[in-house]
Amino acid sequence: MLLPVLILIAGTLVPLSARQDASRAYGVLNATDTLEVALYDSSAGTWFDLGDLLGVVKLPSVVNDTTRKIEFLLGQYLIRVTDRSPFIVLTERISNASSVYQMHRIALRRGGRFFLPLSEFLPLFERLWGGSVSFNAESRTLTLTSSAKPAFDISGVEIERRVNGYLLTVLASKRLDDVETWLKPDGWLFVTIANATADSLALQRFKPAGAVRKLLVFQSPTSVQLTFQVSPDVEQAETATDPTSNDLLISLRTRSEITAKELTARKKGEARTNLQKERDRWKLDVIVIDAGHGGKDPGAIGVTGVREKNITLGVALKLGRLIERSMKGVKVVYTRTSDKFVELYRRTQIANEAGGKLFISIHCNSLDRKPSRTNGFEIYLLRPGKTEDAITIAARENSVIQFEEGYEERYKKLTEEEFIMVTMAQSSYMKYSEQFAALAAKSMARQLKIRNSGVKQAGFYVLVGASMPNVLVELGYISNKKEEQLLRSAKGQEKIAQALFNGIKEYRAGYEKALRTTAPSKGSS
Ligand SMILES: [Zn+2]
Repeated sequence: MLLPVLILIAGTLVPLSARQDASRAYGVLNATDTLEVALYDSSAGTWFDLGDLLGVVKLPSVVNDTTRKIEFLLGQYLIRVTDRSPFIVLTERISNASSVYQMHRIALRRGGRFFLPLSEFLPLFERLWGGSVSFNAESRTLTLTSSAKPAFDISGVEIERRVNGYLLTVLASKRLDDVETWLKPDGWLFVTIANATADSLALQRFKPAGAVRKLLVFQSPTSVQLTFQVSPDVEQAETATDPTSNDLLISLRTRSEITAKELTARKKGEARTNLQKERDRWKLDVIVIDAGHGGKDPGAIGVTGVREKNITLGVALKLGRLIERSMKGVKVVYTRTSDKFVELYRRTQIANEAGGKLFISIHCNSLDRKPSRTNGFEIYLLRPGKTEDAITIAARENSVIQFEEGYEERYKKLTEEEFIMVTMAQSSYMKYSEQFAALAAKSMARQLKIRNSGVKQAGFYVLVGASMPNVLVELGYISNKKEEQLLRSAKGQEKIAQALFNGIKEYRAGYEKALRTTAPSKGSS
C-alpha cells in the first residue's frame, strides 16, 4: 500500500491518490508464454514492477539497499534506476560512456521492489531490448515479442502488386552489396547475391502470386541464388536497395513503367519529409520568458526599496512584446504576467508543457550590504557552481523555495550525483544554452551601460528540468544605486528588453541555419 504523498522532483508533480490498489497486468511473451507483472495505479498513471518485467525476459538484476538502486544489464547497457529519482542512467558496457534518460515521473521503491512509470519506461525498454513491447491500458495486457539476432542475412521474400508491375522485396538484415540479376527470355529470373546466407526454410514459405509462379533457393558457400519463375509478360527486372532498410527491391516491369529507381526516389522523398518533420519539431517557435519571483516572494530589495519581482516582470513583459511584435512564427509563453507567486518547479513545467525551445529566467542581483558598488549583469547556465560568488547567488535565488509549501520534500538538495544527472539530462541542450548565453551577453554589453560580468554557471533550481536550451539572466545589481535606477525605470527596462531581444534574434538566425543542415539530436531521452 502506497502512502498518499506528494512526490515532486525536478519540475515534476506526481500526486498519488489515496485510492491505489495493487493490480496485475497479464500478457504473452513471444506469442507462446503467458506473463504476469504487478502494477500500481494512481491518478498520475500506472507504475509496474520492474523486477517482474526483468523476470519475464530472464534478465538478472541487483538491488542495493544502501543506495536504493537497482541495476541490470539490457542490450549493451548497464542500467541503473534510483528510488524516487526520475533519472535512469545507462552505461555502455564496452565504452563505459554514460547517458541519462529522464522520465517525467519518478521510480518508486515499495517493499524492496522497484516500480517504474509504465508509459515512460516501456519505450526505452523496447529500444534497448530490441523486441517489440506494447501495453494495452484498457485490457491491461502486456505483449512482449523478442527479436533474436537474425541467424541469416536473408529472411524472406515478399511480393506486392504495384501500378504497372510487381515489387519483390528480399528481406535482408545486412546490406547486400554484390547482386546480379539476369532475366532469361524463357521466363526465369536469376538473382545471385554474393557473401550472403538465406533462411531456406523461411523462403520456402514464400507464396507465389501475380507475375511470380515459383521460387527456388540455392545456397552455396559464398552466395545465394534466388531463382524466380515469372510470367512471360515480365519484360524487365531492376534491382535497388531500399534506402530506409537493407532490403533488396526487385521491380518487375510488365507492360508499363514503374521502376525500382522510381521507388527509390519515392522512399527518399519520404525520408526527406521525415527529416523536415524532425526539423519542424525543433524549430524555434516558442520562447518561454520567466519573470523571477512574484506575489508573496518579492525577491531581492533594492537600495531605495525597489523589489526584484517588479523589475523582472517589467522586463519580461517588454521583452515578450518585442518578440510578439516582430518575430513572425514565434509564440511567447510567460510563466507569469502579473504579480503572482509561481513555484519554481511549476515554471519549467509550464515551459515544457508549452513545448518551449528557449527558456529565459529573468532576475536581479543584490548584495546584503546596501548601497554597494558591486555591479554588472551575468548570464548563468545550469551547472554546478564553480566560484564562491556563483554559489552564493544560486543559493539566494534558490532560497525562494521557502515560500513554497512542503519544499523540503520537493527539492532534494542537489547533491553532486544528482547534479551530474541533471546536467547530463540537459547535455543535449547545453550547446544551444551556451550559444544563446554568449550572444545575449554580447548584445547586452554592446547596448547597455551595465558592466558585462560574463557567462557563468551555477545550480539554479528554476532551470532544473527544462527540456530546452535555458539560461538565467541577472540583469544587474539593485543594491547598486546606479543600476537600481536603470533597472527600475521603464526606459531602462525597455533598453534591457531590446538588448535581450537582439540576442534572441542573433541566436535564432544561427540556430535555424544550423537546423537547416542537420536536426539536433535529442540525446538519450
Ligand atoms: Zn531572483
